[in-house]
Amino acid sequence: MSQSAIAAEAQRRRTFAIISHPDAGKTTLTENLLLAGGAIRAAGAVRARGENRRTRSDWMKIERERGISVSASVMTFDHAGLMFNLLDTPGHEDFSEDTYRTLTAADAAVMVLDAAKGIEPQTLKLFEVCRLRDIPIVTFINKMDREAQDPFALLDEIASRLALDPAPLYWPAGSGGRFKGMMDLRAQKFLPYTRGGEHPAALPINSNAIAQYLDPDEQGEVEEGAMLVQEAAKPFDVQSFLEGHMTPVFFGSALRHFGIDQLLGGLAAYAPPPKPVAAERNGQPTHVAPGDPEVSGFVFKVQANMDPNHRDRIAFFRMTSGRFTRGMKLKAQNTGRQMSVNAPIMFFASDRELAEEAFAGDVIGIPNHGVLRVGDSLSETGQLRFAGLPNFAPEILRRVRVKDPLKAKHLRRALEGLAEEGVTQLFRPNLGSDFIVGAVGQLQFEVMADRLINEYQLEAIFEESPYAEARWMGGTAADIEDFDDKHKTAMARDIDDQPVFLGKSSWEIGYVADRYPKLQFLRTRERG
Ligand code: GDP
Repeated sequence: MSQSAIAAEAQRRRTFAIISHPDAGKTTLTENLLLAGGAIRAAGAVRARGENRRTRSDWMKIERERGISVSASVMTFDHAGLMFNLLDTPGHEDFSEDTYRTLTAADAAVMVLDAAKGIEPQTLKLFEVCRLRDIPIVTFINKMDREAQDPFALLDEIASRLALDPAPLYWPAGSGGRFKGMMDLRAQKFLPYTRGGEHPAALPINSNAIAQYLDPDEQGEVEEGAMLVQEAAKPFDVQSFLEGHMTPVFFGSALRHFGIDQLLGGLAAYAPPPKPVAAERNGQPTHVAPGDPEVSGFVFKVQANMDPNHRDRIAFFRMTSGRFTRGMKLKAQNTGRQMSVNAPIMFFASDRELAEEAFAGDVIGIPNHGVLRVGDSLSETGQLRFAGLPNFAPEILRRVRVKDPLKAKHLRRALEGLAEEGVTQLFRPNLGSDFIVGAVGQLQFEVMADRLINEYQLEAIFEESPYAEARWMGGTAADIEDFDDKHKTAMARDIDDQPVFLGKSSWEIGYVADRYPKLQFLRTRERG
C-alpha cells in the first residue's frame, strides 16, 4: 500500500473516549451512538453482550463479581465513510489509572453532563487529564427529558469551572415534562422531540408546522433563548476547539435517542483524525506522522488474567503510524524483544474479530504472556520511543505488609513488578522499611491483592497509611534536596527513584506548596 493510501486510511479514523461522572449516562450514550452509527441493531446490546461474555468465558473473578465488562474496552464502527474507535473509560468502582491512561490513546473526548447536575467531581478529574494532553472536547448535555438546570447556567459552569468557551450548536426548548426539542442554531431549524417513538423530522424555524409541537409561549421562549445565546457566546471555531479552548455543546436525551445523530454528526465533522506525534528514534527527537510506512504505537493498557489458566494478557496497542497486517513482527523499544503478532484482536461493537489490518488511530489487542507493559513503545524497527504514559497522583494510599517477615524481599519484587506494569504505584519512604502503595481507585487494590496471591503466593495485608496524598516534586535538584532534608519523614521514592512528597492531607500539601514557592508539587509524572 502506498504511503498516501496509508495516510488516507489514518485520516479516516476518529478515535475518542467518553468522559463523565457515574450515572450521567455514558453507557446509554455509548449504546445509542453505536445504534446511530449502525453498529448494533437494538439498544441494550452493549450491556447484554457484556453479560453473555461473562458467563461464556472465564474472566477474572473480581471482574465477574463486580460486573465489569472488559470486552467493551474499544468499540469500532464504520459510519459516514469514517472509522470510529470509541475507547471505554472504566468508571464507577472500576475507576483506576486505566481510566486516565485510556485518554492518552484518544484524539478527542465527549464530555457527558447530566443536565440536572452539571459538572461533577469525576467529570472534572477526567477533564483535567484531557486538558493536560490538549484533547479537544465535545460536550453533550444529557437527560434533557428530565427536569434540567437552566441551560445558560450550564454553559456558565463550563466556562467558569473548566475555563473552556462553550459554543452551543443547538438550543433546547424546555426540559423534563416540558421538553419539546431543540433549535439547530446553524441550520435555523427546529427538531421536535416526542416522548416515545420516532422523533419527527426537522422543520425550518419559520414553518407553521412548529405550532404542532410548541405553544406560542414555548416558541417565544426558545427563540429568545436562541437569540440571546448567539449574542452572548462566541461562535464555534474549529481551530479553537482543536486547540482545546472551545467546546461545541450538544443537547439531548441518550435514553430517548434524541440528539444522538446530531452528536455523531458533530464528531464526524469536527473530531480530529490522528495527529503526528513527538517521539525519539535511537535517542534523537523526531516526529511520527500517521502516514509513515513504519508501524508504530504504544501500549496504554494491559488486561491481565483474562484466562487464569493461561496467564494470558491483552495489551491494548494504540497505533500512531503505518499499516499493520496480521502476523507482522513488532519490537519493543525498551526491552528489544520482538514478537510476531499473529492473533491481534479488533473490537467491533457486534463482536471481536481477528484484525487483518489496522492504521494509525486504531487500537488492537495483542495477546501475550506478560511481555508487554503499559507505556511500551512498539514498532517494526524497535527504534521508536514515545513519551512515557503519565502516572497520576494516587488518591488512596495504603501500607502493605506480609505476614511472614521472611517474605519481605519477595514482596518488594512483587510490588515493583506490579508498579512497573501500572497496576498500582509503589512508594518507598526514605526512612523505615514500609511499602506504601497508591491507586486512584479502590478496585486497583483488590486486583493487586488477587495477583499477589495467584502469581506471587503472597498473602498481603493492606493497612491504613498515615498519608493521604502523594506529589511528585518539580524544581532544581538543589532545592529539592534541601526540601528533602527538612522533610525526611514525609519523603519517599517512586519506582523510578523520583522524589515524592507524602502529605497527610491536601491541606498540608497546599501549606508546604505555599511555603516553598520555588518547588512544584505535581499531580502527574510522565514516565519513561
Ligand atoms: P453511566 O453510569 O454514566 O454509564 O450511566 P448509565 O448510562 O448507566 O445511566 C444511568 C441512569 O440514567 C440509567 O438509569 C439510565 O437509564 C438513565 N439515563 C441515561 N440517559 C438518560 C436520559 O437521557 N434520560 C433519562 N431520563 N435517563 C437517562
